[in-house]
Amino acid sequence: MTKPVVAIVGRPNVGKSTIFNRIVGERISIVEDVPGVTRDRIYSSAEWLNTTFNIIDTGGIDIGDEPLLMQIRQQAEIAIDEADVIIFMTNGRDGVTAADEEVAKILYRSNKPVVLAVNKIDNPEMRENIYDFYTLGFGEPIPISGTHGLGIGDLLDAVVAHFPKRETKEYDADVIKFCLIGRPNVGKSSLVNAILGEERVIVSDIAGTTRDAIDTTFKRDGQEYVIIDTAGMRKRGKVYESTEKYSVLRALKAIERSDVVLVVINAEEGIIEQDKKIAGYAHEAGRGVVIVVNKWDAIEKDEKTMIEFEKKIRDHFQFLDYAPIVFVSAKTKQRLHKLLPIIQMVSENHAMRVQTNVLNEVLMDAIAMNPTPTHNGQRLKIYYMTQVAVKPPTFVVFVNDPELMHFSYERFLENRIRDTFGFEGTPIKIIARPRK
Ligand code: GDP
Ligand code: GDP
Repeated sequence: MTKPVVAIVGRPNVGKSTIFNRIVGERISIVEDVPGVTRDRIYSSAEWLNTTFNIIDTGGIDIGDEPLLMQIRQQAEIAIDEADVIIFMTNGRDGVTAADEEVAKILYRSNKPVVLAVNKIDNPEMRENIYDFYTLGFGEPIPISGTHGLGIGDLLDAVVAHFPKRETKEYDADVIKFCLIGRPNVGKSSLVNAILGEERVIVSDIAGTTRDAIDTTFKRDGQEYVIIDTAGMRKRGKVYESTEKYSVLRALKAIERSDVVLVVINAEEGIIEQDKKIAGYAHEAGRGVVIVVNKWDAIEKDEKTMIEFEKKIRDHFQFLDYAPIVFVSAKTKQRLHKLLPIIQMVSENHAMRVQTNVLNEVLMDAIAMNPTPTHNGQRLKIYYMTQVAVKPPTFVVFVNDPELMHFSYERFLENRIRDTFGFEGTPIKIIARPRK
């Protein structure tokens, strides 16, 4: 199921990122303690009244050296391309400006629902400032204050009211959905071609140019797969498509729709910081991950090269220690036949459920082997554990006091679970809860 997407547009300084942060709140992500994985605060999931959605701050997508007005226009275009509902943000202290009218003109032309927000209405006396904004033609303006957190509920009510009514299920549950992410030119489209075994998509030597494909469904050995569209695969030719943040945005959308993410690395270039960031997204989203080192044909090697490369990957991607690594060549097809079976295995592990009684036997053995830690004279007590979700496998462990569950002990439990049940290729989550 895909979550609805909300995009915030508006000229600079009206308060887009302030509102974005208000709506997103302080979410605790599972990679926050992983050094080096920084997050762009432009895309996040959020929740309002039991409805989850994704939200984009288009203001965070800076578009090269374009003049300001052009940037604002392109951000509005992105919102129209990506969102189900658009929040058009203005500043109630400035009144309607020429740039606001420019944005309005672009939004008229789309068929997307628009909710007009007038920000910086910090007190009731300022409410009359909103009447000016009726002239923009998007109905009733909603007064809000990002600084004081006023009106955000009303705004989100209006947004949620526009969500598509029933979420449609895209594919059957037993179809494996995967995507390929990685920097431009690592060979993503070549790999897609090679996997499909036919020149269905066009490959080019120019960085960033890619094929015209949406989701591609295919069947291999009785298993159905879908390759999910990633950054730059569609609607190419627009100026903003080459901006890094936009391609990250598209990759995030693809990751979200996938069960398994192939993180593609170029063997010729080694691992660079951006690879780590990209991989961090897949991990954080709780998807199954396979690390694919492509262009293996292009480097000189001896019998140690692969082991050394693997070690480098493990060092750089410590948070992905569960991910299998495959060395392939889209060009010579070397080891490509391994990819689909590995994707299948990871997808099964991602959806694996273990029995509570077996899980608790493992838990008791683990505690016997490595007694629970103490803090300020208090010892962590673990009562029992149960798996509450799949995709990714999520475990709740009931304890006397969650504060006493130290990261390293959690890690120890995770490793015991992995040693016993497998779970290769999938992140697992462990949540400590106080026993009532
Ligand atoms: P963006 O460029 O549209 O993302 O705007 P920002 O969120 O960065 O906000 C621009 C400035 O407006 C910052 O100095 C904010 O502190 C300020 N600001 C944001 N929301 C409000 C508000 O509701 N009231 C007031 N008075 N200032 C605000
Ligand atoms: P994308 O931008 O990640 O989709 O990368 P492409 O699939 O467009 O590939 C970028 C370039 O790398 C093209 O010139 C490909 O021919 C080349 N390439 C892709 N895979 C391999 C490979 O396995 N070996 C070699 N030597 N070149 C490759």
